[in-house]
Order: sequence, then structure tokens, then C-alpha cells
Amino acid sequence: MLIVHKYGGTSVGSLERIKSVADRVAKARRDGNSLVVVVSAMSGETNKLIDFAKYFSPNPSKREMDMLLSSGEMVTASLLAIALNEMGVDAVAMSGGQAGIVTDSFHTYARIKSIDTTSIKRELDRDRVVVVAGFQGINRSGEITTLGRGGSDLSAVAIAGAIGADACEIYSDVDGIYTTDPRVEPKAKKMSYISYEEMLELASLGAKVLQNRSVELAKKLNVKIVAKSSFSESEGTIIGEEREDMEAVLVSGIALDKNQARVSLKDVSDRPGIAAEIFTKLAEENINVDMIIQNASSNGLTMLGFTVPESELPKAKEIIENFDHDIGGKSFDSNICKVSIVGVGMKSHSGVAATAFSALARENINIEMISTSEIKVSMVIDQKYAELAVRTLHSVYELDK
Ligand code: ADP
Ligand code: ASP
Ligand code: MG
Repeated sequence: MLIVHKYGGTSVGSLERIKSVADRVAKARRDGNSLVVVVSAMSGETNKLIDFAKYFSPNPSKREMDMLLSSGEMVTASLLAIALNEMGVDAVAMSGGQAGIVTDSFHTYARIKSIDTTSIKRELDRDRVVVVAGFQGINRSGEITTLGRGGSDLSAVAIAGAIGADACEIYSDVDGIYTTDPRVEPKAKKMSYISYEEMLELASLGAKVLQNRSVELAKKLNVKIVAKSSFSESEGTIIGEEREDMEAVLVSGIALDKNQARVSLKDVSDRPGIAAEIFTKLAEENINVDMIIQNASSNGLTMLGFTVPESELPKAKEIIENFDHDIGGKSFDSNICKVSIVGVGMKSHSGVAATAFSALARENINIEMISTSEIKVSMVIDQKYAELAVRTLHSVYELDK
């Protein structure tokens, strides 16, 4: 079989860990597989490099950040190839660019445009294990780009799709996808299978076990993902097409996102065009607005609230503070979080949201904002109740059973 393995930060977090990854790769080779191995930087490394840059500048050039951050993955890719060669497993390390990954020029959050698989295929034909530095590519002018945090998952899925791999196995410190983050609810249960749609919602709503873009791409290219642990031999979770029997389950998972902040605007003039003006300004600065609520107006004034990623709050705040007309009061709050329930079964059942609201009410947790889609319900609550809310919802939908 032709398989892509991807090892995340903790899996390559020390030299010993890289050695055990090499052992795992060598075993997969002995079993007769052809392998491309995508690696992350050693855990903590990317954050350390960001801090280094911040020492010199609060707002470093994004091009230089990509030069800097791509180095973390280069270290692990080359070390893994060296370790494999030493064990008698022929291996070659490549940067994202050398592996043929071409992206747009949006530095620090680039999108993959195409993959030229010539080099990877040539090395596979020579019976070598190809070790690729994740999280990076090059643009058309040969400049190094990176793919956004957690982007090695995306590199792995994109390569798996491009070479037509039989599976993309993503190794981390958990042995699969759980009904919720097992660090928050130890009673969480491992799923043997989850649909792309549900996984995409969970990942987009805060379950960082897989990067959301990687799930989106896997669905598009129909790449079978298997989430596994690099610390054990356990089976893992398959992420694939939705199955007929899945709608029987109302809620399959719960996600928590603590990196959200809220902007509340009071006494906003209720006239056509005001929302357009506010949100256009935010969009121009690439701020990701998520939930939006607006009250019915009274006396020509209304209230407008919305959430943004916490990291984008300073920029959003600057824009809103400079907005000098039509808004009476402005306030900003990063002590909130978003808890979401996800399940394809919601499409065909009613009352799912009501159950969540009642469960939180029983715990005296106030819901400050709500948004729904076909297969999810998200609620904004005070951050101090984050874990309690996750555990409460986990139990009310009997996910621990
Ligand atoms: P890597 O560094 O290998 O990319 P991550 O730290 O990005 O790994 O992802 C693994 C972590 O994701 C786990 O340690 C776990 O705490 C967290 N996680 C969040 N939600 C879930 C979930 N539903 N199932 C499994 N793990 C989850
Ligand atoms: N090293 C990068 C990060 O920490 C990419 C990755 O690990 O997937 O975000
Ligand atoms: Mg990750």
C-alpha cells in the first residue's frame, strides 16, 4: 500500500521520540508499504520561534516569519531521514517546496494551489521513504510560505490526495477522535468512525486534533484519514464519507473553543447600511467574524454583538474604536468561550438544541449567544463555565455511554 504518515509536534518532541517514529516507519516499510512521512516541528518549537521574532518586533514581516517558522519542520524532517538511514532504511528529506507544494502568496496563511509530485514519485520509485517538512510550501516566485497553525495536517492530506495514497494516517498523542477533548472530559469515548462533515465542524469549532482545512481538503479529494497515536498500537478513528446509519445518533461530539472574544455595540443607529459599513471594515482587515446577533430596535437604536478569534480582538478593537459615528457604546470581552454540539442526526430530529439549553440552565450557565446550522448548535458562555458546560452536554447526550 501507498501510505502517508503524519507525525505532530509531541510525536517528534524529543530525539528519543524521533527515534521511535523512525522505528514505526521502518516497521511499516518492512510490512511492504511505500511511505511518505510528513512531520511537524518539535512541540513548542513554532511558538518559541514566534517569541524570538516578537523580541525584535511586535509586528514582524510575514515573509520573514515564514522563513523563520518553516525552519522548525526542516529540523525534524532531516533528523528523521538521518535516523532512518542509520537504521538501514533508505530515506530522503525534502522541504515543502522540494516536495512540489506550490501555494498562493498569502504569507503565514497560504493556500495550496498545486502539488507537482515528480520529485516525490521519483524517490518512491527508488524505494526510498520520502520525509517531507510539513506546514510549508513555496509560491510561484519560489518564496517560502506557511499554511497556518496546525498546517502539517494539511500538507499530509494534500500529498496523500496528489499521489493517490490509500490512506493518510495522522499520528498525535491521542489514539483517535473522541466524543470531546479527553483532556476536558476524561469520560470521552473514542469513535471508530466519523464523517468528514462532522469532523470538519468539530475541527472548525475548536477541536484542534485535526486542522479544519485538512478535513475540508480530505473531503474534497476523498482522502481516507486515520487518526492514531504514535504512543500506542491502538486502532484509531477513520474519517470518511457519511454512512446511512449515522443519522440515528443525534449528537456525536462536543467542541470547545476558548480562543474567542466578543464585541458588543450599544445604541447603534438602526438604519440601512450600518451593518454593512462595520463588517466591511472588519473584512478589509481579514478579521474573521463568526456569530452575529442584533436585537429588535427601539427608538431607532439597536444592539449588535459579534465574536472574533481572540488573537484578532486587538485589530477589531482598533477598527471599532475608530468608528466615530452611529454607535453609542462599545465593549470588548475575551472571557467568553464557545461550546458546540455536532451531529448529522440533528438534520432529521427536533428538540436537540432545546435539550442543550435546558441542560446548561440546570447548571445555571447563562447562554449569551447562539448560532445553529444543519449539523451543529454553538453557544457562547462565560469562559469560567467552559469545562462544566462541556461535561454537562457530554452527559446529557449520553456520549459517555
Ligand atoms: P499534534 O501536535 O500531533 O498535531 P494536537 O495537539 O494538534 O496534536 O492534537 C491532539 C490534541 O487534540 C489532543 O491531545 C487532545 O487534547 C486534543 N483534542 C481536542 N479535541 C479532541 C477530540 N475530540 N478528540 C481527540 N483529541 C482532541
Ligand atoms: N508547527 C506548526 C504549528 O505548530 C504546524 C504543525 O504543527 O502542524 O502550528
Ligand atoms: Mg495538530
